[in-house]
Amino acid sequence: MQVAHRREDVRVMRAGLGTVALVPTMGFLHDGHLSLVELARRHHDAVAVSVFVNPTQFGPGEDLDSYPRDLDHDLGLLEQAGVDLVWVPEVADVYPVGSSTRVRVEGPLTAVLEGGRRPGHFDGVATVVTILLGAIRPDALVIGAKDAQQVVVLRQVVRDLAIGVQVVVGPTWREPDGLAMSSRNVYLTPVQRAAAPVLRRSLTEVEQRYAAGERDAETLRSLVRSGVATQSEGSLEYVSVADPVTLAELDRIGPAGALVSLAADFGRARLLDNVTLPGAGRAPATVR
Ligand code: AMP
Repeated sequence: MQVAHRREDVRVMRAGLGTVALVPTMGFLHDGHLSLVELARRHHDAVAVSVFVNPTQFGPGEDLDSYPRDLDHDLGLLEQAGVDLVWVPEVADVYPVGSSTRVRVEGPLTAVLEGGRRPGHFDGVATVVTILLGAIRPDALVIGAKDAQQVVVLRQVVRDLAIGVQVVVGPTWREPDGLAMSSRNVYLTPVQRAAAPVLRRSLTEVEQRYAAGERDAETLRSLVRSGVATQSEGSLEYVSVADPVTLAELDRIGPAGALVSLAADFGRARLLDNVTLPGAGRAPATVR
């Protein structure tokens, strides 16, 4: 496994690798990240992983400084997983002195959900991913359905900027009790950790009611609100039942299906989860 720090080095190391799939991460890796590495390896000669806590996607007052980090442990996991190339840049390798270009994703896709609550977040994500793609020039970009709006936004960026990369989406990896894996789960106290699977349980209820024929979006939102309210450790910030492509809130779920997504605060941890309700004759949009 080759480990690069500087931009020039990652470029040179990438050159000899054949087709490459890139998995961008912020480190503090878990099995969800490693599932993306597996997926990446399936269709390409080599897997590259970036480990970089990107400052431009954090807002003021967010957890940039306290975001969990353990690079040695991460490198051990990536080596074990057979990763070929890891890029661990410093902030100055990604944003060198004098760099002044930022990618701004306008319009309704970034005005809602996470984008609505974290102004500038997706501009930071779009900018760093564009730089990662430019430096590594992978054939595929492998990302997780866990961050559903990020998937929609990055597909848009790749299309708009004519970046010739295939976007591959892996399913959300979960703990045995259903909690979606996240580096931020480390913030949970034992009591909050025990309560947090309520998020997945509420989404499972939504899936069941949808399978039984429920199509009224507000009924499904209410189901999540009342499910999460059964415990007092965490509070729901929002639940959305939206068109999976435009992210516009729905009244009724039609043939396109829906993305049901939520954010909830459990102490210091802001947790995200989602499910895709399949449309008529369409499989969920993840590769398994
Ligand atoms: P992060 O390190 O949290 O920025 O995540 C890096 C990549 O891993 C993103 O594409 C995430 O969507 C993805 N990811 C995070 N958590 C999970 C999970 N539980 N299952 C699958 N992918 C995930």
